[in-house]
Amino acid sequence: MPSLAIKRWSKIKAYAKAIKFANVLKPQTFDINVHISDDIMTFMNNIDTLEWNVFDLQELTGGRALYYTALYLINRHNLINKLNLNSTKLMEFLNAIEKGYKPNPYHNSTHGCDVMQTVHHMLLKGTGFQYLSDIDLLAAIIASACHDYAHPGVSNLFERLTESERAVRFNDQSILENFHCSETFMLLYLPQYNFMDNVPKEDKRQFRDLVISMILATDIGRHFALLDHLRKGIAKAFDGRDRENVVDMLRMIIKCADVGNPAKPRDISEKWSHMVQEEFFAQGDMEK
Ligand SMILES: [Zn+2]
Repeated sequence: MPSLAIKRWSKIKAYAKAIKFANVLKPQTFDINVHISDDIMTFMNNIDTLEWNVFDLQELTGGRALYYTALYLINRHNLINKLNLNSTKLMEFLNAIEKGYKPNPYHNSTHGCDVMQTVHHMLLKGTGFQYLSDIDLLAAIIASACHDYAHPGVSNLFERLTESERAVRFNDQSILENFHCSETFMLLYLPQYNFMDNVPKEDKRQFRDLVISMILATDIGRHFALLDHLRKGIAKAFDGRDRENVVDMLRMIIKCADVGNPAKPRDISEKWSHMVQEEFFAQGDMEK
């Protein structure tokens, strides 16, 4: 039988979680030094839903959807204050990530932003974020925003068969995913972008481990191996106190978000479908 003290502590923890949940649902205003127009703030009212249209935000912001969405979500969870992030460097970093996405038909910054918003939706919808610490939340936002950073617009197979410089560098193993992740950290570690200067070492380690796990999970070539692992693990029994379970949940979420376009409203989903076909055909032309 659990003691009275343990029972009380469980109640307190449940109450704290409920407060965290209520706070995140509250509409937030920006408390960092960046001008966000009322139009953009109004647009973000819908961000918790699958109806949220990233293409409309791209139009509204002149192609800055990833930048504004990442800042919005980081601000909404109050992560700048809670984690003592350097907001100027954070803005510079997000700016560089957005610009570093190539203008591919599909794997572009719009896709990076779309996956970030879908991860946000899934965390809220399934209330998975309750199991996350603040550093986990930051990692989930950054990993999803950066998961295809600097994508060349061709597949892992193309990289391997053409024996590209990237394939050689990463020994044919999750070539693009290793590349996106490695490039993200190379950028982050530059002094002008390192917004985590003041974050404790252990938190930085947790952030890095999680970002790597999440980005590598998007390799579709490892789909069945990962699915098998998840089926035997968290699909059977999930324990939010088990760190491995939490990491697996986030790997599953980013994986679903990455290929989740068909779950969006038809007009959005059809657009993505045309875009991905265009990129595949462009690769096909290179293969001739
Ligand atoms: Zn992707």
